[in-house]
Amino acid sequence: MSALKLGSRSRLRAILALGVVSLAAVQAQSDSLSVATPGRTTVDEEASIKDPNQECEPYYYEPIGKALASFPPIWETASILPEDGNALAKFASIQASIPDIAPKGTPEGNFDGLNYPADDPDCWWTNSKCGTPKAPGVPADISIMPEPRTLGYGFDDGPNCSHNAFYDYLASQKQTATMFYIGSNVMDWPLEAARAVKDGHEICVHSWSHHYMTALTNEVAFAELYYSVSVKVATGVTPTCWRPPFGDVDDRIRAIAAGLGLRTILWAYDSQDWQYGVTPGITTADVDKEYQSMVDDAKKGMFNNVGTMILAHELDDYTMGEAMKFYPMLKEAFDHIVPVAIGMNITQPYVESEIVMPNFAQYISLNKQLAVNLTTSSASSQPSPTLTRSVVGPASTTTAPVNNDAANNKKTADASRLSWVLSGTGGVKFVVAFLLGFLCAARIGVVSQ
Ligand SMILES: [Zn+2]
Repeated sequence: MSALKLGSRSRLRAILALGVVSLAAVQAQSDSLSVATPGRTTVDEEASIKDPNQECEPYYYEPIGKALASFPPIWETASILPEDGNALAKFASIQASIPDIAPKGTPEGNFDGLNYPADDPDCWWTNSKCGTPKAPGVPADISIMPEPRTLGYGFDDGPNCSHNAFYDYLASQKQTATMFYIGSNVMDWPLEAARAVKDGHEICVHSWSHHYMTALTNEVAFAELYYSVSVKVATGVTPTCWRPPFGDVDDRIRAIAAGLGLRTILWAYDSQDWQYGVTPGITTADVDKEYQSMVDDAKKGMFNNVGTMILAHELDDYTMGEAMKFYPMLKEAFDHIVPVAIGMNITQPYVESEIVMPNFAQYISLNKQLAVNLTTSSASSQPSPTLTRSVVGPASTTTAPVNNDAANNKKTADASRLSWVLSGTGGVKFVVAFLLGFLCAARIGVVSQ
């Protein structure tokens, strides 16, 4: 502020002028995020984009744009919104079913200094891969497929903005899977999420902001799940299953998920695809080795009595590329590759009862029929074998998506907050303009001496 005291009237006018220009630029950007983006208003339009860079350009989807205020800020650890009576009531209703277990470590997964008993009293998967709860009444995890020679096929961390090539590939193979979507990603890329439903995939949730769940308080863990299953506004469906980020779950978190009607799904094989580009020294050869080990085990007959489940990711083009590379080998090694619900004979995968899936036997029968049809020229007209829905929840409406990575998603959230600020009175805008002008002036030296 001392610089302002030294400035002349002309300097003040320059500052204000800069502020007005800056405000206009920001207002223009804000406006561009509140108007439907031409050619990107329906699932089919969005699915038709083939350029990954174009796919990942933010777009505005009105239903999400209108619903943003009913959700926590995207990519931030969720908490129950103070005015959300339904969430508060639901949380209160499950309190008695939550075991008295203290949170562990940090949301970033730092468990240093944690004095956790060796006998694993909380059935903490991160500690021991425990999946059979020790607390009474808590449902066990699902981590394999009960059907022989069957692979539970699914992908975490989506929807990814550039997934059209991958989803096109799965569709070309008449293959469906379970997509474990992050709530914040759905808010950013709602039409991509809606495509999964339309393509016949099963949607489960993967938390709101992708943190270590056992580190969170009961209320925060509840909110992370509650709001991630509330994205029906984008997908038209309410999931009944979830996978904990990093597999970090214990009986307390399992009980909270169960209270929300969510089955907890883990995995038996980790492709380690997520480590490429993140963990120094991890190469494609390492990822390939993990995929190959499961293929080899299948060929050795390890799943002749009970099937298995793989962890893979819709994280980026690399992980989706690995999935496409190994799909033919998986197809050869297993008799059946199925979404988790079908492998579990769950025919109503969502709260919405009008949406049904075939049971395992029906699915296999449909697949066999498709295998025959694929040898004919009419095969391309065959529908996906996964869903016989009486209703396909069209993407509801919306959105103001941004990019699928955390940084860009935070930009979206920032834009939303900025829009709120700019919706104020002219006097407020004047102050904002002046402050912006001052900041600009400081950067270019108008007020420096
Ligand atoms: Zn994840």
